[in-house]
Amino acid sequence: MYNDDFFRLEMQKIKELGLYREIRKIEKIEGKYINIAGKSYIDFSSNNYLGLRDDKRIILSGKEAAEKYGAGSGASRVVTGNSSIYSRLEEKIAKFKGKDKALIFNSGYDANIAIFSSIFDESDIIFADKLIHASIIDGIKLSGAKLLRYKHNDIADLKIKMAKYSSKYKKIGVVTESVFSMDGDIGKIKEISDLKKIENFIFIVDEAHATGIFGERGSGVIEELGLEKNNVDVIMGTLGKALGSYGAYIAADSIIVEFLINRARPFIFSTALPPFSCGAALKAIELIMEKKVLTEKLYENIMFARKNAESSGFALPKDITPIVPLIIGSNSEVVKLQKLIFDNGYVAAGIRPPTVPEGKSRIRLTINPYHDREDIEGLFKVVHSFIKEK
Ligand SMILES: *Cc1c(COP(=O)(O)O)cnc(C)c1O
Repeated sequence: MYNDDFFRLEMQKIKELGLYREIRKIEKIEGKYINIAGKSYIDFSSNNYLGLRDDKRIILSGKEAAEKYGAGSGASRVVTGNSSIYSRLEEKIAKFKGKDKALIFNSGYDANIAIFSSIFDESDIIFADKLIHASIIDGIKLSGAKLLRYKHNDIADLKIKMAKYSSKYKKIGVVTESVFSMDGDIGKIKEISDLKKIENFIFIVDEAHATGIFGERGSGVIEELGLEKNNVDVIMGTLGKALGSYGAYIAADSIIVEFLINRARPFIFSTALPPFSCGAALKAIELIMEKKVLTEKLYENIMFARKNAESSGFALPKDITPIVPLIIGSNSEVVKLQKLIFDNGYVAAGIRPPTVPEGKSRIRLTINPYHDREDIEGLFKVVHSFIKEK
């Protein structure tokens, strides 16, 4: 027996704040369709930006890897959980991202925990954009390093903070995202890397939402800006979003990869990713590099969704990414709109604190190439009617 007062009180608090979360009873997702309790809805909330999650070519490649290498890996990579598929994937990622070496992690969450907790310690300081992902914050907390957050995309603020604090610490880290997960705007990567002229720091960029979408090879914003080689030191990304698989990676100089193999506890003390995920991700990267994915249709849909959002009165970030945030403000209004959208046959994510700051609750739409104009128009008809009634 135990006293459940703690749990009941916490749950009551969560509900009163309009922050209650539950797992949807989803039967199946296929392409843009989500089947919930026998009814089909149009999905505007997955991070499956290129539609690769259901792509027969990557599923087949995953299956072949599973048949050849097994359903699981059986151990950590540093014990016996390794086979040629992992190094093939790592070589492919290194080429894709334009770095010497890559290392696979079990998820993006794991990768961020690994990077920060192994590279930094109590004598270090990390400057982080105000809107960085929870996994980065958790990694920094675990490292014990001092965390200082600068205003979102505000390089002047970063410079002031750097000048004020840097000298008191041993190593300095700076971290941002290339596409911000909840706002869909692009990080100031060039501007930050230019600060290396005045300060020595390790620059880490999370490309979770940019991988597969930007750049000539399709590897991300860093590639598009030509900053892979000497500007960004550690590039992190996930295999689970546009690449349609599961797992994550970092790409960096050989010495950093070697260091992480020896020091990153989430890498050392966890069973390696299943071969299926590696086989699927390998194929996804190949298809992206060979331009055999639906990027043009994706952009056409993004532009159409943005046009609709703007005519409903929403101010959007100027950067064109598959994330279209409809900022509403109040938690309860977001819950209401989310339900209205759902009742009309669409699934869109209501995002509330702590995922976004207080007063910035929103509907976060994600666009993919399977959407038709009618899907987007239909969704915005619902949004528009809600806005008009307010
Ligand atoms: C999703 C996400 C992660 C975590 O990646 P997973 O592979 O889903 O664990 C890390 N950083 C950002 C910015 C993300 O959006």
